[in-house]
Amino acid sequence: MRLTVSDPEAMRDLGRALAALLRPGDLVLLSGELGAGKTTLTRGLGEGLGVRGAVTSPTFVIARVHPSLTGGPALVHVDAYRLGGGLDQMEDLDLDVSLPESVIVVEWGEGKVEELSDSRLEVRIERALGGEDPPADDAADPRTVTLTGLGERWAGADWEPLRADRV
Ligand code: ADP
Ligand code: MG
Repeated sequence: MRLTVSDPEAMRDLGRALAALLRPGDLVLLSGELGAGKTTLTRGLGEGLGVRGAVTSPTFVIARVHPSLTGGPALVHVDAYRLGGGLDQMEDLDLDVSLPESVIVVEWGEGKVEELSDSRLEVRIERALGGEDPPADDAADPRTVTLTGLGERWAGADWEPLRADRV
């Protein structure tokens, strides 16, 4: 599934729509360079899941748990940017313990957290326009978002709800 997302508000929107497809036990890996929009998407996910607390870019915190306000799964938001190694470095976080009743979203998690689950949703965010330099201040800076569901959980997933007008 590939989408074009025109601006930050549309990215949040996509997060809200994606939240409706998620259930407890889901692992979501977000990839894309610094400033791609991973945290912006996660903010929308948090809104869609109806969790407590604002989703932010953690400066020192590696993982933050946002409990549900609506009886749904908690959102565990992990920023693994500063972590070199794999899960063993994150052992203290007990992600394996939280996963069954949570949605775990990991920024920079590739090669680090896959073993948490047999299935995962990979979300890659890239600047849709080529070139190294960001566009002028108020110019559009769309993103291409590619979603790949791996494992049994995502076999036959219906992505259509995500296809709303975000361009
Ligand atoms: P990351 O977590 O991937 O480092 P952030 O979500 O923290 O990225 O930041 C993305 C930045 O890019 C924000 O400042 C956001 O306003 C900006 N931005 C511009 N255009 C878009 C877009 N189409 N989608 C998402 N973010 C965008
Ligand atoms: Mg981020």
